[in-house]
Amino acid sequence: MTTDFAATKAQFHLPAGITYLDGNSLGPLPKTAAARVAQTVNAEWGEMLITGWNKAGWMDQPSRIGDRIARLIGAEPGHVVMGDTLSIKVYQALASCLDLNPTRRVILSDTGNFPSDLYMAQGLCQTLGQGYTLKTVAPEDVLATIDDTIAVTLITEVDYRTGRKHDMAAITAKAHAHGALTIWDLAHSAGALPVHLSRARADFAVGCTYKYLNSGPGGPAFIYIAPRHAATTRPALSGWLGHESPFAFDQTYRPGAGIERMRVGTPPILQLAALEAALDIWDQVDLNDLRQQSLTLTDQFIAGVEASCPTLRLVTPRDHAIRGSQVSFHHPEGYAIMQALIAHGVIGDFRAPDILRFGFTPLYIDKTDTAKAIAVLSRIMAENLWDNPAYKTRAKVT
Ligand SMILES: *Cc1c(COP(=O)(O)O)cnc(C)c1O
Repeated sequence: MTTDFAATKAQFHLPAGITYLDGNSLGPLPKTAAARVAQTVNAEWGEMLITGWNKAGWMDQPSRIGDRIARLIGAEPGHVVMGDTLSIKVYQALASCLDLNPTRRVILSDTGNFPSDLYMAQGLCQTLGQGYTLKTVAPEDVLATIDDTIAVTLITEVDYRTGRKHDMAAITAKAHAHGALTIWDLAHSAGALPVHLSRARADFAVGCTYKYLNSGPGGPAFIYIAPRHAATTRPALSGWLGHESPFAFDQTYRPGAGIERMRVGTPPILQLAALEAALDIWDQVDLNDLRQQSLTLTDQFIAGVEASCPTLRLVTPRDHAIRGSQVSFHHPEGYAIMQALIAHGVIGDFRAPDILRFGFTPLYIDKTDTAKAIAVLSRIMAENLWDNPAYKTRAKVT
């Protein structure tokens, strides 16, 4: 398959006059999503009422869609399930891994990890007591820090601020050599680059769908368990839909088969309908083509910005082997510069304390968009257009 990125771009609603470099935070609307959701609302919810759980197949949606995600993350079919938010899935995966490795007490993560992952780990350690701790080291030091004390590594493959990519295969291999388990957070990997969970022998993985996968705000997360752990994992969040037989209404929890046990409660059917519309576009994409195009665009952006904006300092690795699908720059006035960019039709985002972040998403961003973003940023910097009080008031969401 050779991916036709002009064809995928045509399948998204992209507001006129906007260059959207924030699909790493919230993907745009697939054109068929509104009709797909409307059909679920009207023909299914409206007409079928509660019979939709069987007739429209709602109850099987989380694993059916999990299988479509599996292709994008190199997972075995039947080992990914949808539900809840990423933070919840991080907690669930962590609790399960600590349970599978009961003689160890240390969770290893890195200081570049997304705060919610770290907060969830801190909360779990407090709840468990008994000496459980979260250890964080610089991203570059993760590999060297893995030793026989580590129960589980909790690593986000691509750093949300810097765009630096960890070596999943190497970290997983070293963790296993030392008797540790691995959880990979794919928030900035799924739909951003090829992921090979099975080949890397990852133990658990989690990720969200509203970033690169374009499921819309509040879209559900996914969780993967390697087949070798699927029958022995205790799900920790033992909700009724992860029970072996939910409609037996037993008084006592018994885990469901394999990955089904990681389900918790009622799935978000309307959000899953929007995700299905997005996955119809993903079915047309070869992930190796995606990676090539992503590197072409991020190279183009780095070269163009460095040539025209000497005060912006590159954060993202130049080395393709350790670069995700975003480009970040430091600037002390990063917030105001980003507000000026947005006012001039180029949407990226700002991450404290001083990072301007731009996501590159080949499904709907091309070389022309990238050139336009470079030109607008160059003008804002050359003419100091950011130096305006209107651009310096912080909004709630940055
Ligand atoms: C975006 C992101 C989250 C967000 O979690 P939600 O529960 O979906 O809000 C968590 N972890 C990482 C690494 C992220 O990039």
